[in-house]
Amino acid sequence: MLEEYSRVYAKVDIEAIKYNLMSMKKNIPDHTKIMAVVKTDAYGHGAIRIAQELEEVDYIWGYAVATAEEAFELRDNAVKKPILILGYTFPYAYERMLIEGIRPTVFRKDMLNELNDCAGKLIARGELSSKAPVHIAVDTGMSRIGITPDDAGAEFVRDALKYDNLQIEGVFTHFARADEKDLSNVKEKEALFSKFVDRLESENNIKIPFKHCANSASIIAVPESSMDMVRAGVTMYGMWPSEDVPKDIVDLKPTMELISHIVMIKEVPAGTPVSYGGTFVTDKPTKIATIPVGYGDGYPRSLSNKGYVLIRGKRANILGRVCMDQFMVDVTDIPGACEGDEVVLMGKDKTSGEEISAELLGNMSGRFNYELTCDISKRVPRIF
Ligand SMILES: *Cc1c(COP(=O)(O)O)cnc(C)c1O
Repeated sequence: MLEEYSRVYAKVDIEAIKYNLMSMKKNIPDHTKIMAVVKTDAYGHGAIRIAQELEEVDYIWGYAVATAEEAFELRDNAVKKPILILGYTFPYAYERMLIEGIRPTVFRKDMLNELNDCAGKLIARGELSSKAPVHIAVDTGMSRIGITPDDAGAEFVRDALKYDNLQIEGVFTHFARADEKDLSNVKEKEALFSKFVDRLESENNIKIPFKHCANSASIIAVPESSMDMVRAGVTMYGMWPSEDVPKDIVDLKPTMELISHIVMIKEVPAGTPVSYGGTFVTDKPTKIATIPVGYGDGYPRSLSNKGYVLIRGKRANILGRVCMDQFMVDVTDIPGACEGDEVVLMGKDKTSGEEISAELLGNMSGRFNYELTCDISKRVPRIF
C-alpha cells in the first residue's frame, strides 16, 4: 500500500460490486435492466470510478443520482450511459442537463413548461437533436415527490404528452415499505402502480418504455415487481436494506473496508483518563494505541467507549471519546501490537477471519449501515 494511504483509506472492491449486481440480475427476469443507483458518491464508495466500470455491462441501463451536480460530475468523467436524477431538479440546471442527455424526474406542471421551453430553445440552436426524455414520478405511499395515481395524476400525464419537445421515457414509483417482513404493503402498492400505468397507456394509446418501481429490497423479496427496470442501490454495495430482508435469496459480498495504522503506543498506569472529558479511566496498567482517524473522516463519534477495531486479528476496544481526527483503543491483550500495525476499522481481518461489517458498525453506532458509508468523508481516499 502506498505511503500516502497509511493514515486511512477505504478499499473498494469493484469485482464485489459487479458480483452483487450479477447476483441481483439472476433474481429478476431476463429482459429487466438495472439502473445502478450511484447517488451520494455511490453510497460513499466513489461514483465516478464505479460508473466508469459499469459502462460496458450490458444489463446496466444507466445510473441514478440525486442531484444535477452528481450527474454533471459523471459526464465530466466520460460516463456516457443515461443518467436519471431521482429528485426535483431546479431550473438553473436544465440547459446543461438536457444538452448532456441527463433525465429529469418530473411531477410538477411548471417543470413541464420550463423543460419544454428549454428543450425547444436548445433544439432551435442545434444543441439538442431530439425531444428531451423525462421520467414521471408517481407517489404510492412515500408522500415525498410524485403525481398521485388517480384522475389528477392521469391529467398530468395527458398534459405532459402535449408538449412538443418532451418525451415520456419512463414512469416510476418508490416503495416505502419493501424492506419489511410483511410484504402486503409493497404488493398492494405495486398493484396500484401497475393499474395506474395500464390506465395511462390505454387512455393515451402510448407505450412507456421504462416502467420501474423496485429498489434493492424489492429486487430480493418481490422480484415479480421488476417490470422493465429495477433501481439497485444499497445491495450493489453489499449491504442489506434491513434486518428483515431475507439473506438467502441473493448472495452479496461486502465491498468496502476501512483501514488505518497505529501511530502511537503508550503504557499508562491504572487511574489514567483517556480522551476529552476523561470519560474513560483505566482500572489497571493499560497499553493504549492511538489511531489517526476520527469523526472528521466519518468515523462515528457515537462509537466513543463502545466500538472496537481489529488489530492482529483481535478486537481492541475504543477507550474514551472519538475525537475529530484521532481515537484511542486498548491493546493490552494484543501481544506484539506496535506502532505501524494495520488497523481494520471496517472489514475482515485476513488472519483471524473476524469481521466488522457495515451492519455491525451501524448497530454499534446507532446508525444505518449505508448511512455510515455515505458519511465516510472526502478526506478518506478511496482505493479500488
Ligand atoms: C435511493 C433510491 C433508490 C435506491 O434504494 P436502495 O434501497 O438503496 O436500493 C431507488 N429509488 C429511489 C427513488 C431512491 O431515492
